[in-house]
Amino acid sequence: MSVSIEEKLGVNKYFVDEGNAHIEIDPNYPDMKEKMKLVNACPGGLYKLNENGSLSFDYAGCLECGTCRILCLGTIIKKWEFPEGTMGVEFRHG
Ligand code: SF4
Repeated sequence: MSVSIEEKLGVNKYFVDEGNAHIEIDPNYPDMKEKMKLVNACPGGLYKLNENGSLSFDYAGCLECGTCRILCLGTIIKKWEFPEGTMGVEFRHG
């Protein structure tokens, strides 16, 4: 029996800090190639391109891998920090 990526990610627990986004973006950054890096690379699929070309992002399912930070800090990514202690992803293996 195969298990989808979504099912695997759904097993994790996420403690979302509603009052403090640990990642902030510029959703209207003009360079489409830069936006597509995030859409294609985020393992959680948290970056979505809207019909009008803007970027949607939800930090609630972040895996804290740092990929978006490496790719776009200083362009689209305006802030990247780890969540405060006890917040963020709790991986469930097995
Ligand atoms: S840190 Fe990783 S999982 Fe979180 S938003 Fe960036 S690329 Fe996606």
